Amino acid sequence: MIIGGGIIGLTLAREWLQRHPQSRVVVLEKEATSVAHGTGRNSGVVHSGIYYAEGSLRAQLCVSGSQKMLDYVDEHRLWNDRCGKLLVPPTESALGSMDVLLSRGLANGVEIHKVTGREALELEPRVNTQFDQALYVPVTSVVNPREVAERVRKDVVECGGAIHYGTRATAIDAHRGKVRTPKGTFEAATVINAAGLFADQVAEQAGLKTQYSFQPFKGKYWKHKDPDFSLQRLVYPVPDLNLPFLGVHTAHNQRGEVYFGPSSTPVIGRENYQGLDGVTLRDGLSLTASLVGKFLKNTNGLRTLSMRELKLMRLTGVCNELSKIITGVEPQGLERSLVKVGIRSQIFDAKTQHLVNDFVVVPDKRVVHVLNAISPAFTASFAFAEYILDTYQH
Ligand SMILES: Cc1cc2nc3c(=O)[nH]c(=O)nc-3n(C[C@H](O)[C@H](O)[C@H](O)COP(=O)(O)OP(=O)(O)OC[C@H]3O[C@@H](n4cnc5c(N)ncnc54)[C@H](O)[C@@H]3O)c2cc1C
Repeated sequence: MIIGGGIIGLTLAREWLQRHPQSRVVVLEKEATSVAHGTGRNSGVVHSGIYYAEGSLRAQLCVSGSQKMLDYVDEHRLWNDRCGKLLVPPTESALGSMDVLLSRGLANGVEIHKVTGREALELEPRVNTQFDQALYVPVTSVVNPREVAERVRKDVVECGGAIHYGTRATAIDAHRGKVRTPKGTFEAATVINAAGLFADQVAEQAGLKTQYSFQPFKGKYWKHKDPDFSLQRLVYPVPDLNLPFLGVHTAHNQRGEVYFGPSSTPVIGRENYQGLDGVTLRDGLSLTASLVGKFLKNTNGLRTLSMRELKLMRLTGVCNELSKIITGVEPQGLERSLVKVGIRSQIFDAKTQHLVNDFVVVPDKRVVHVLNAISPAFTASFAFAEYILDTYQH
């Protein structure tokens, strides 16, 4: 049984059914669809694996997962754009990080090139070449995450899996593999917690005690209003490697719409997409208290990040950030997207006092908990499902 019907839950169900076609698989999903949260609200970028430390789970599963994702979209004739990606240093201090990313990429087995400003302009005429160098990663691609999730959902159903939408897991007996929902109690030999933004709460319901707490970050996007504005490649800044986020970058979809984002704003609610939506008293109080503490101590560069985020409150601030990597974007050409906004299911480790920078999987009794399914968990999902079943299925 799988709690959570996003891309992680769906690929797990699919993988299980492929391995054991005779078995019964049940997915419990509290929403009416699989794309209400992370799965339907991401940039759709199939990442290459250049950002993650060699040997980390993210590096391993991103590299193998991206190939599996690209094979899957080809096999099912789903939309994809093999556009490649340019990484541009936004400041002089980012030049050193370029070399770190180059060697991480090569160590992870990803094709990556250092190119001159002229070469970068040939690849993408709108790129800012102020430091006359960039990194180019040909394999990075874009897919439609909603289309991919819908295809995987169909695979699960066609293989005999049952997906119960509108069914929230409310209590878990980890010894017996029993999950209570308002629609009845389900029982299974193995339960997998793939509840995304609620994975830590589901783990708590199942009696798991960890050193982790939850710290959500909202990702807002801005849309280019001109339907004729287009980019041939994805363009990203070389990120500040002290912060766990990739920085505001370009993103496009199959309708040819160009977006910029996502921001990385700490928030006090798990599904806090607009205003105070999704903020509960319990989360609101505990997240506010922990944010104040982290802000004062600048834990994990959180104060630096928050100050940078403040500049994104105004369109001029967004354009200032963007102008460091691309040319030709003016505040009057942009609008904040009210529909394209996501929240990262990020956890914080009280022992190391750091935001956790890798996927975390914790087995306990009959339950396997998938914690911290942060980016690039969408890219990695097919490989992640194989890894979880290979490692924990017994
Ligand atoms: C702004 C943003 C941009 C991103 N961009 C990229 C990108 O370009 N490329 C990439 O690879 N990754 C990206 N990611 C990361 C990626 O979206 C996530 O890692 C991925 O979607 C995680 O999938 P999931 O199935 O764990 O989560 P979700 O899609 O959130 O699924 C979890 C599901 O569990 C359900 N659930 C929760 N609690 C319960 C309960 N008690 N009972 C039943 N169901 C429950 C929820 O309703 C939800 O549908 C991005 C993330 C964000 C926020």
